[in-house]
Amino acid sequence: MSLSAELFQRAQHTIPGGVNSPVRAFKSVGGTPVFIDRADGAYLFDVDGKRYIDYIGSWGPMLLGHNHPAIRNAVIEAAAKGLSFGAPCPAEVTMAELVSKLVPSMEMLRMVSSGTEATMSAIRLARGYTGRNTIVKFEGCYHGHADSLLVKAGSGALTLGVPNSPGVPADFAKYTLTSEFNNLPQLAQLFAQHGDDIACIIVEPVAGNMNCIPPAPGFLQGLRQLCDQYGAVLIFDEVMTGFRVALGGAQAVYNVTPDLTTLGKIIGGGMPVGAFGGKRDIMQHIAPLGAVYQAGTLSGNPIAMAAGLAALTEISKPGVYEALTAKTTQLINGISAAAAKHGVPLTTNQVGGMFGLFFTTETTVTNFAQATQCDTEAFKRFFHLMLQQGIYLAPSAYEAGFLSLAHSDADLAHTITAAEQSFKQL
Ligand code: PLP
Repeated sequence: MSLSAELFQRAQHTIPGGVNSPVRAFKSVGGTPVFIDRADGAYLFDVDGKRYIDYIGSWGPMLLGHNHPAIRNAVIEAAAKGLSFGAPCPAEVTMAELVSKLVPSMEMLRMVSSGTEATMSAIRLARGYTGRNTIVKFEGCYHGHADSLLVKAGSGALTLGVPNSPGVPADFAKYTLTSEFNNLPQLAQLFAQHGDDIACIIVEPVAGNMNCIPPAPGFLQGLRQLCDQYGAVLIFDEVMTGFRVALGGAQAVYNVTPDLTTLGKIIGGGMPVGAFGGKRDIMQHIAPLGAVYQAGTLSGNPIAMAAGLAALTEISKPGVYEALTAKTTQLINGISAAAAKHGVPLTTNQVGGMFGLFFTTETTVTNFAQATQCDTEAFKRFFHLMLQQGIYLAPSAYEAGFLSLAHSDADLAHTITAAEQSFKQL
């Protein structure tokens, strides 16, 4: 038995499902998750000594590659001065100034410890600011596991929210309305019915939790226009897209300015960090300046700030996003050509350093319904064939893939060859 298998067996006695976050359990692809011993650059090394080229990157944060020396050294230096103060520290100020400079719509911001905290807090703020209870999210978008966000639509129809996890009271979920991603007419109808009660729209500006689906032309602009018309707050959840699709996030790529933005992942360089921020007059409603309560023992933690600052400093250097985008395009083109060669129907999406592979005959994939109609059996087989060849893809057909600057031409070529071998055997 492999060490990973042994650990997984042991873990299941004391950790629900053997993992501390569900998708890690490989439930949707089957098999045993690999337990990781260490990571470096583009690679993960499992406890059995096998090396993988990693296309998850800790679910997004590792844009610079694993164990980057600038981040590692910043963490070591900060740790020598103490692990947590529970009092303000200089790095928090530098961090707020830097984020605000890179994402100018974030005139003020608050640091938190996860993406979930960021979105949960942004929604409370939007509700407190507008005095309204109802929120709008899109089918297939994930914003963390706060109660009001664990709600999705019935297929394709406008519908009042039903919780999709036991433990979320229906009375609470009814304040979450859902609409189809990339379907503005449907959203306009929702606003026509409920507009005066809607506190905010929250959206992943590039959806990355139903595989990778970019916004259709005009979609994000339409959200801005509806929010302005009905006095609702527009929240871009850039936990995944922030510093991933461009230095200024998706809002810079699509040139749409939200009222509030949530960040996570890359902003912490691998440490548990999130942030929410936006327009000054909205952010001023947060305690202690305003009445909307929000707090955190470890918020603005000095080690996390040091890691995040080092990451943001590195990615602000010229040429980073050009290189990241070019590498991602090279990978996607190679995989597409390999699929075509072996007659495997495959459609791809890419925005900057994130990508999606869809096993489908549809030539474009633009919404949740299409994403969920893909051939998940083919994906499962592909996933395991790639894993056997040392390529670590997300263990679910509904997750975006991520590249890092550490992925070399040789890594990409190796991945494309492995994909070709896999397609041959599908
Ligand atoms: N928002 C988006 C867009 C995400 O992708 C995620 C996590 O993947 C979250 C929020 C939640 O972040 P966290 O897992 O750090 O709580």
